This record gives sequence, C-alpha cells and structure tokens, in this order.
Amino acid sequence: MRILSLGAAGFIGSHLTDRLLKEGHHVTGLDLQADKLTDYLTHPNFTFLRQDIRSPESNLDRLIQESDLVIDLIAYANPGLYLRIPLEVFRLNFTENLKIAEACVRHNKRLIQFSTCEVYGRTAASLKNAQLLNPEDPIHATFSEDTSEFILGPVSKHRWIYSCAKQLLERVLHAYGLEHGFNYTIIRPFNFIGPKIDYLPQQAADIPRVFSFFMGSLLTGAPMKLVNGGTNRRCYTYIDDAVECCYRIVENPGAVCDRQIFNIGSPHNEVSIRQMAELMRNIYAEKFRENPAVPLPEIVSVSGEEFYGEGYDDSDRRIPDITKARTLLGWEPVWGTRDTFERTMEYYVNEQCEAMTSSLAGR
Ligand code: UDP
Repeated sequence: MRILSLGAAGFIGSHLTDRLLKEGHHVTGLDLQADKLTDYLTHPNFTFLRQDIRSPESNLDRLIQESDLVIDLIAYANPGLYLRIPLEVFRLNFTENLKIAEACVRHNKRLIQFSTCEVYGRTAASLKNAQLLNPEDPIHATFSEDTSEFILGPVSKHRWIYSCAKQLLERVLHAYGLEHGFNYTIIRPFNFIGPKIDYLPQQAADIPRVFSFFMGSLLTGAPMKLVNGGTNRRCYTYIDDAVECCYRIVENPGAVCDRQIFNIGSPHNEVSIRQMAELMRNIYAEKFRENPAVPLPEIVSVSGEEFYGEGYDDSDRRIPDITKARTLLGWEPVWGTRDTFERTMEYYVNEQCEAMTSSLAGR
C-alpha cells in the first residue's frame, strides 16, 4: 500500500513507520522535523516531507489523493500544552485535523485517525455526588468505545479543551460516515510508552509527560514531583504492543475496522503516579545506578496549580476495555508494567551515556 503518515516523526509515528516499512509498504511521512526517523531517511520505500500542514504551501490535498491509506497522528498531545496554549491545541487538534479528514472524504480515502483516551474524561466515581457502593471497583473506571459516557470538567478548567477537540473531531468523522459513507477508523491510545516517548526536561519551562520528568529526576537527582499526591492512575501500554494493534488496524482484515473506534491499552498495567515514581526509582536503583553512593531522588508532592498553572484538572483513572480489539483483531497486549518501564528507562539511560561519551570525545 501507499501510506501517507501525517505526524510520522512523533513517538507513535516513528515506531509505526518502522513496522510499516518492515511489512513492505511505501510510506510518505510528513512532519516538522525528522529527529526520530533518522534510521529510515535513506530507506528505498520511505519519503520524508518536512512540512507544516498549517502552511499555505502544504500540498496535502494532492498527497492524500495519491495515497491508498491516510494515517493522521498530528496532534498536540501533552497536558502541559493544553494548559499553556489551549487555542493552538484546539486549532491543531480540531481545525487542522478536520481539513485532513475532509480531504479524505473528497478523495474517498480510508483514514486512520489517532484520537485519545482523554475523551472519556473523569470517572463517575470521582464526582462528589456519585453514590457508588464500591467506588474502587475497576468497573467504574473501565471505558468502552461505544457505550461509555464522557465526563469533562467546567470550561474554566481548560485542560479539557484537548479532550473536547478530539471528541468533536470523532463526532464529525462519525457524521461523515453516516452521511457520506466515509471510511475511517479511530484509535484511542491509553498512555503508550517506550523509547523516544519524549525529551527529558532541560529548562524550567519544559513540560513533557510524567515519565520524562521522573526519568530526568533519576538522572540528575532532582526531586520527583507528584502532582496532588500522585493519586491519579494510568494504564501504561508498551509501544510494541500498541504498534502490533495499530498494524492490525492498518491491515483491516475482513474490513472489521471500517467506521469503528478502538481502545488500545493494557488494562492490567494500572499504576497510580505515586506507584510509578516508586517503581521507577526501584528499577533505577537495581538496574541502572552506577554509583550507589549517589542518593536516589526524593519523592515530593506539589499542587496541580503550582505545577501546571491555572486551569489544571485531570483524569483520575482510566482503564481500557479492549474486548473489541481482542474479538475483532485477536490482539492481546503482552508487556507487563515492570518490563514496560524497564525497557523504556534503559533507552534513556543509554541515550544519556551516549550523549556524555560524545560530549567528552568532542572536548
Ligand atoms: N504528573 C506528576 N508529576 C509530573 C508530571 C505529571 O505527578 O512530574 C501527573 C499528572 O498530573 C497526571 C499524570 O502524572 O496526573 C500523568 O500526566 P502526563 O503528563 O504523563 O499525561 P496524561 O497521562 O495525563 O495524559
């Protein structure tokens, strides 16, 4: 297939590009930079286009017309950005993505749209008035693609603009499916993690995702900060598991993915952010710490407002119901929590060593 991958150089896009090329597809990857794709730039089946889809010079319409399948990964998908630049988050994640979808409708192309598990928002158990017998039961935090309700906070909590933009995009794709027979598949990733997930924070202004903050702390000794005590919970999904499922969606056996939404995630890998900090610290001490005399970073608590600024709110807990991916695609995640973190950490430890070696060699 001739596949157009928009946002190919991001974390998910770079891993997916690797798989698509291994499977023999021709891939045109478009992104702002190619840092995570350097291994593929000379591959005979790969074309990289350094382009901003927001630029008036962008030739997106022609690229879509010439492809068999479009994969749209373009997004601002980092909570730090929802708080800082909510309008840009809306414009990119809704307005620009909508243009891509409408070009797919015009040219009758199948679209795989990456959305987010953030669309589910908060759990019913987190609402003050929830009268639940056992609020801790995972059933209250397990979200299904076609039946779960979405619970978002008030407009003043602008974190939700991302969730809301993605939700609206999903609804528009669904409507195009109904009215024009548009063929799309929506993917809702649940906290994918693995090598290349993010950059490590360098300056005070950097706000990557939590893994990178904790990794940065382990490498520098700075405190690991738990936002509001680190009680929120996430299910971390190793990128190899995630890409396996994404690839099955690309293949679309028996057209089972047509006009469907899929959760992709590891329901058994749930950890609170506090547990994650402790687990990463333990793994680091056991596997990667070179000098046991150097103390491990302390774990401290900070308020959400202090860490992110005004407008912070959060998903308290989210567990994917993956029945659909299991039954339609025969997919099952295999990576457990500890291995997932260990493999991801190993990548950053090696990166750091390489960076130190090359800076010493350059002296
Ligand atoms: N978080 C934290 N310490 C940090 C960064 C984030 O406790 O240094 C929390 C954040 O408030 C959220 C969770 O970790 O509850 C996951 O945040 P992340 O930015 O990784 O993305 P999310 O899973 O919310 O999309």
